[in-house]
Amino acid sequence: MQSYAPLRRLVSGTALFVALAIGTVVPAGFVVQHVQTEYKVLRFKARSNAGKVARYIYMHPILWQYQGDRILDVVTLPPEDTVRQVITDRNNLEVLDDGALPAFPALRVQAPIIVDNVEVGSLTVATSLRPLALQAGLVLVLSWALACAAFATVRWLPFRVLDRTIGELARQRAWFEAALEHMTQALCMFDENHRVAVVNGPFAAMFGAPDTASLMGLSVTELVERLAKDVGMDRYTCARVLLLDATEVRDAALSAVVALADGRRIVISRTRMRAGSWVATFEDITDRWRAEEAEGDRTRALAESRVLRERARAAQETSRAKSLFLATMSHEIRTPMNAVLGLTASLLDGPLNEEQRRVLTTIHDSGESLLRILNDILDYSKLEAGRLELEDLAFSPAVVSETLQAVMGPRAAAKGLSFEIRTTGALPVALRGDPGRIRQILLNLVSNAVKFTDRGSVTVDAIGSAFGAGRAVMEWRVTDTGIGIAADTMDSLFGEFVQADGSINRRFGGSGLGLAICRRLAEQMGGTIAVESRFGHGSTFTFRVDLPVAAVAETAVPPDVSATASMETHIAHLGRRLRILVAEDNQTNQFVIRQMLKGLDIQVDTANDGMEAVNAIDRLDYDVVCMDVQMPEMDGLTATRAIRAKGGRQALVPIIALTGNAFQEDVKACLEAGMNAFISKPVGKNLLLQTIVTEMSRQGDAVRGRRNGLPRTPDATMARAESEDDPLRTDLSPVALTVISNHRG
Ligand code: ADP
Repeated sequence: MQSYAPLRRLVSGTALFVALAIGTVVPAGFVVQHVQTEYKVLRFKARSNAGKVARYIYMHPILWQYQGDRILDVVTLPPEDTVRQVITDRNNLEVLDDGALPAFPALRVQAPIIVDNVEVGSLTVATSLRPLALQAGLVLVLSWALACAAFATVRWLPFRVLDRTIGELARQRAWFEAALEHMTQALCMFDENHRVAVVNGPFAAMFGAPDTASLMGLSVTELVERLAKDVGMDRYTCARVLLLDATEVRDAALSAVVALADGRRIVISRTRMRAGSWVATFEDITDRWRAEEAEGDRTRALAESRVLRERARAAQETSRAKSLFLATMSHEIRTPMNAVLGLTASLLDGPLNEEQRRVLTTIHDSGESLLRILNDILDYSKLEAGRLELEDLAFSPAVVSETLQAVMGPRAAAKGLSFEIRTTGALPVALRGDPGRIRQILLNLVSNAVKFTDRGSVTVDAIGSAFGAGRAVMEWRVTDTGIGIAADTMDSLFGEFVQADGSINRRFGGSGLGLAICRRLAEQMGGTIAVESRFGHGSTFTFRVDLPVAAVAETAVPPDVSATASMETHIAHLGRRLRILVAEDNQTNQFVIRQMLKGLDIQVDTANDGMEAVNAIDRLDYDVVCMDVQMPEMDGLTATRAIRAKGGRQALVPIIALTGNAFQEDVKACLEAGMNAFISKPVGKNLLLQTIVTEMSRQGDAVRGRRNGLPRTPDATMARAESEDDPLRTDLSPVALTVISNHRG
């Protein structure tokens, strides 16, 4: 509003001038004009009366000076008290003084009285100016009234219009500025001289200027300088940002994305306006741009992860295929192995000469070695596929030591080594875990120790520690005085297929998988295996595991009772021939089982598939059924379900699965189908006999309580049968020789 002050002053001055003019010129004019008119009238009157007096003097030349009264008749003035007439002679003596003397201000006119060209006196007429003064006063008052009115009008009207216009402009300006400030875009407008004419707050903020005022009026070049300094933009970008020079723009509107040095992305749009001015708007699209980039990244990552998933799936597929292959292979190899081992064992039971016995023993031992390797590979593939499930049973660590002693003692003694198991401190009465796998680890370590020691001793230290809070740490240290391990191979010892040096395999055999399996088993239990050794001075392997403490052990090691004797006792108590049905499609396997049961008072019937087995059950009462799982026509699982569905006495017959499949899910499937126990091939004679006796005892109305020395395994337990033929095999391949009872509750 301040910028309009001169205009206001001008308007006020003009108004004052008009007022003053009216107030002074009008009364002055009035006075001047009236005084002039009065003067003319008075002068005429004075001259005409002077003529009349001259004529009178001409006719009365003598003593006219004393004839005032008579002269008065000639020059009578209208009877106005404001007019005065004085006649004097040449000597200035008064001849006549007529009328009232008008008060000041008065107007006087003197006219000479000329007779015969001689001035004989003078006549003066005076009139009062009072009436004129009064009139002039009135005119003055009116004039000033008019002047005031004119002043007010001249000053007020334009001001009102001005104020209105200014108010409107200010309002519009405020809207305009608000719009500029609240734009999301930055804006800079250049006038026709290429100087900043309008710039908004977002522009200053975007380019780091302290305020908009400091940018106003700058030329494009100056602005480029400023931005280059403040924002640190390079001049080229800077110039691009401001589009350098409007004159270079041919197109009316341009738009471009510019990347600033600080990583921001700005969209610039420039539009030409009239008369060479132009406006540029700037929009910060960094966030949107980043989001789009991220979206791109995400899409790429998604594609990558899809590829990875695909690969993982393929790897899983491969692993599954591998496991399936191994399962099949194990089945296929186990079946003939069953025959080889079973038949050599039964031949070894019979009368043989020295030569025959040596050959057969070699065949038997080789078969077992093969089986051990097969079991290692199977275990390893299960561990790798994550399909090895650990048992959760209460077991006694002391019994584990006893087993080690029983199994490994004779082996060490056979090599002339001293073997000792020492217990340090008290062992927990029972722990929860997988005793079979723990035994497998320890037997592997001890058997390695025995294998790689020619002189001296093998010692096992069982150390229980950190009891309390329901858990205990068990540590077994297997120390030997054998060949030891070179420092450089120590690290890789627990790797797959590792043997300390190439000659080992030639000298000692083995697959090099034992320790790898031990390590993986230990890790799956949450434990560790470590080795300390000096080449040529023996080794110490330490297996350590932290397990929950249990109240009583559920498992028991089967007593060392001959299975054949136990079977004989059982049959004797039964008081009749035992009748067993063997459902098995493979003739060799049928033969093997027959051989194993030979010499006992057992009637062995065979069925070639599941259907034949079901029919046979209909015809005869059997004490036990040994059922192969994979058979043509009807498989063992279906046959079992059919038998269980029959009802009646025969539906309760104990059924023992004989199968080459060694996976946990196979065991589960057999038990679910209604089988009572599971023996995986190759079947050992002892195990077969023991399992038959156990299952009959369980079934037991006829024989319960009359078993001789064969304890009932507690319900819902797993017992690992010790095989006289090869104790190591039993423990190295627990699945292969597992008997699982299905009697619960
Ligand atoms: P293998 O089935 O061949 O015995 P392991 O994995 O059990 O495989 O053992 C791997 C290698 O570690 C063996 O071949 C042997 O070289 C070395 N090794 C294991 N235990 C001992 C030990 N007690 N003394 C010396 N060397 C050992």
